[in-house]
Amino acid sequence: MDFNDRAVLVTGASRGIGRAIARQFAARGARVAVHYREGRAAAEETLAALSGGPHLVVQADVADADAVERMVDAVVDDLGRIDVLVNNAGIYEAHPPATASYAAWQAGWRRTIETNLIGAANAAYCAARHMLRLGGGRIVNVSSRGAFRGEPDAPAYGASKAGMNAMSQSLALALAPHGIFVGTVAPGFVTTDRVAYRLDGPEGEGIRRQSPLGRVATPDEVAYAVAFLASEGAEFTTGTIIDVNGASYLRS
Ligand code: NAD
Repeated sequence: MDFNDRAVLVTGASRGIGRAIARQFAARGARVAVHYREGRAAAEETLAALSGGPHLVVQADVADADAVERMVDAVVDDLGRIDVLVNNAGIYEAHPPATASYAAWQAGWRRTIETNLIGAANAAYCAARHMLRLGGGRIVNVSSRGAFRGEPDAPAYGASKAGMNAMSQSLALALAPHGIFVGTVAPGFVTTDRVAYRLDGPEGEGIRRQSPLGRVATPDEVAYAVAFLASEGAEFTTGTIIDVNGASYLRS
């Protein structure tokens, strides 16, 4: 997979899966825009770990529609183009229906949908505008196994990722005639800081045993699937959702 001369924007790339995705594309020749919301130092750390370049750092709250537009425009200003958008930024906030207050329930839904779904939709729209002008591009969305398996403690998270899956499929249909191809990666548990408290806690062994491989995914394994969907030759996969869950959940 060769991304020489390609400009790639990865949202939420200051750590975790996003950082691995940024590294994956940079290692394959791309120029990468490392997006972060807060914590510029961590984004700079990602930047310093990238080969090739020059790369850049961009800031935005993806739940802010105007900031998303400015972020995409800043990437195009700097790199001259945008060939690949990876919607990776996302949040998981618990709001268990049996115990959360009504206020917490509403806040969980609002923040999660605004970030995970509407944020990704706005970034896709703004990036596609430039890709239409350039004659093509790729959008890859980072979803979750939870869209299919359910998220009992965070129903809005599961719904946001199910919405992301449906959005990806609709965009694939709408944008294929314009040379823009849209794919989705749905990871199960991945070894990132965000879920370390669960993997290191009493339920960790049970989570690892959900897969016949007896472990969870690495961020690099997710990044590899993202790069594949964005690669030259993968055009006809448009609209697909790749599970990266070690057969821990097989959907029909
Ligand atoms: P993470 O928390 O390490 O990274 C998420 C990134 O998104 C962070 O850099 C954060 O700053 C950014 N972000 C969150 N809200 C934002 C906002 N409003 N504006 C801009 N940026 C914002 O998490 P991760 O584990 O690396 O997850 C990355 C993606 O993978 C997420 O979409 C997540 O839902 C998905 N995912 C993760 C796992 C897992 O087990 N780690 C499993 C399935 C799916």
